[in-house]
Amino acid sequence: MDPRSVAFALTQIADFLELKNENRFKSAAYRNAARAVLMIQTDDLGPALASGELAELKGIGTTTLSTIRELVEGGESRYLEQLRTQVPEGLLEMLRVPGLGTAKIQKIHEGLGLSSLAELEAAASDGRLATLPRFGAGTAAKILKGIAYLRENSAYMLYPRALAEGEQVLAAVRAHPGVARAMLAGSLRRRNEVVRDIDVVAACTEDPERVAAELAGARGVREAEPRGGGAVLIRYVDGTVLDLHCVGADELAVALWRATGSAAHERDVMSRAAARGMTIAHDALRDAAGTRLSVRDEHALYDALGLAYIEPELREGRGEVEAAARHALPTLIESRDIRGVLHCHSDYSDGKATIAEMAAAAKALGWSYIGISDHSQSAFYAGGLKPEAVIAQHAEIDRLNSSDSGMLILKGVEADILADGQIDYDPELLDRFDYVIASVHSRFSMDRETMTARVLRALGDPHVTILGHPTGRLLLRREPYAIDMEAVIEKAADNGVALEINADPHRLDLDWRHCQLAKSLGCSFEIGPDAHSTRGLANMEFGVGIARKGWLEATDVINALGVEGIAERLRRRRTG
Ligand SMILES: [Zn+2]
Ligand SMILES: [Zn+2]
Repeated sequence: MDPRSVAFALTQIADFLELKNENRFKSAAYRNAARAVLMIQTDDLGPALASGELAELKGIGTTTLSTIRELVEGGESRYLEQLRTQVPEGLLEMLRVPGLGTAKIQKIHEGLGLSSLAELEAAASDGRLATLPRFGAGTAAKILKGIAYLRENSAYMLYPRALAEGEQVLAAVRAHPGVARAMLAGSLRRRNEVVRDIDVVAACTEDPERVAAELAGARGVREAEPRGGGAVLIRYVDGTVLDLHCVGADELAVALWRATGSAAHERDVMSRAAARGMTIAHDALRDAAGTRLSVRDEHALYDALGLAYIEPELREGRGEVEAAARHALPTLIESRDIRGVLHCHSDYSDGKATIAEMAAAAKALGWSYIGISDHSQSAFYAGGLKPEAVIAQHAEIDRLNSSDSGMLILKGVEADILADGQIDYDPELLDRFDYVIASVHSRFSMDRETMTARVLRALGDPHVTILGHPTGRLLLRREPYAIDMEAVIEKAADNGVALEINADPHRLDLDWRHCQLAKSLGCSFEIGPDAHSTRGLANMEFGVGIARKGWLEATDVINALGVEGIAERLRRRRTG
């Protein structure tokens, strides 16, 4: 059995144990074992079990090892089967509803005898749920909202997880002897912030249909839906969905283009082709006479249509085809354009590393400056700094900067935008920073008008250099707060406040869909890792991806400026 299937079974055991209200340590043991198993790079855990490698792994104990042995050797676990008879599977589904924990689910199950998501939804709508002690109409409404949200978002994954899973399935496809080349396509290749299924295109040296069928019958596959030709939709036991397109080598370019999408981009390119009397169908490009044109790669495909090459990130049907026809596409920013970072936390507030450690890690990544932007005093839950701590931090930064490490450390702060739009700290203290990132961290549920006024007021404060994570969203967890983004973008442009593209993969906020408007109004941008550890600096890669989706070039991004440029840019905002 493969690691993915084993980990899935172990996780189910942990969920069932929690629903049965068993000892927390017991369920934690199964969760740890699931995590440990996933670290092993193999298609079959048999050898690792036999050699004793599995038993040595941190996170695997005697009990969990015997469950793994059963799964690997017999394909199932008696313990899991037993739990399945004791706890309805529908309760596992309820666990995924935001705001529903095991305690509430037990009450729902025992109080109303509900055991599926559909039954829960009905009871929440018809008033039964509200009659449960300590539930009420408010809770019922919340649960209904949670179910709707789940239905819309449950199939989605955050980009980094999709990328990790994508690379895993890509390796499996590439390992098939009949596959010459394979690559990721779909929304993952377009670097969307959330991804539903993973698209892989494979150029085959044997019959594509047979290769697809063999891959659909591999280990860890729960079900497969053939879609005709060499296309097949594969569902793995853990829920990963692979949309696999197996094609002949001469169809690869068009197949890759088509599988990359988006649908809107495809439509625009198709109508461009039609206007020139050409067609794109069955992974082939044909001219007006119906003659098949050879297409070496995607560059050749766009070229044949009189278009400049369009980077996958731009293929969203937002004017890129028309711009490619005018050869007016932006030169998209790349990771190597980034010269430093400004949104980083240290152990002065809720970060894990010291300022010196953060600076050394940033230097190792090739950057020449790092700004430390710890939380301000009102963010007490995140260890926000009292004024005395700010003074001490600045003294430490001065000391580190005098050590000639080849790395400039800037004095920043991520200051809370208070409920009335004022910036946390008084003006004298704010004057001491090189720059101020202003962020909303509280009172998210204000109405749109009040929230907009709050943020606009903050943007009017001359201390504010950057608006941090402008909509406050947490992908797949929390909607953006209600705010008039157009008004915010306009004011930021007028006042020279840079908009942040927060690169934390849970945020990726500003949304790329807002970037084009902001850029057209003259906004500048900061891409911030919001790093809370040295490892968090690696978030920058995700932020750059979003900036690319937003059509941004290096000149739009302030932290693509070198040491002198950034110092001058930060000073300019302060002095007007
Ligand atoms: Zn923040
Ligand atoms: Zn932050």
